[in-house]
Amino acid sequence: MGRTFIQPSQDMRNFSVRVKLNPVRSMIEGKRILIVEDSIVRGTTIRTRVKKLRELGAREIHMRVSCPAIRFPCFYGIDFSSKGELIAANTPVPDIARFIGLDSLHYLSIPGLLDSVTEKNAHCLACFDGNYPIEPCNHQGKMCLENESKVTG
Ligand code: SF4
Repeated sequence: MGRTFIQPSQDMRNFSVRVKLNPVRSMIEGKRILIVEDSIVRGTTIRTRVKKLRELGAREIHMRVSCPAIRFPCFYGIDFSSKGELIAANTPVPDIARFIGLDSLHYLSIPGLLDSVTEKNAHCLACFDGNYPIEPCNHQGKMCLENESKVTG
């Protein structure tokens, strides 16, 4: 199925989620569920999943995210190039949890992420902290770097 968040329309993302995940009622009903997600971008994909788990009778649904909250756009090729697309850009974590339909939500912190790697200064953290290692140009967003690589590369 690939990654749902890079698909171009919400309808396509919702369809992919439905095809990708087919939860079994007997495994869900009455259970307290902990979901470990690698990231939350828009929040719409996981919201659809959580709604399905509620429909199947989950008693509680909690989520832990194994990266920090994505609050800033990526201009380097990952397909979230505006703040308006990012649920964590302007929404406090408890409100994100409510939007998704969770009983609790916690992200890995930036220090926690850095604790997990050996090279502390060798990583881009721009989508978490807004510090871009290469200044994005302000008129073409990520296309600027892509066009530049076509010219030079
Ligand atoms: S860490 Fe940097 S390159 Fe990776 S998605 Fe975030 S902004 Fe883009």
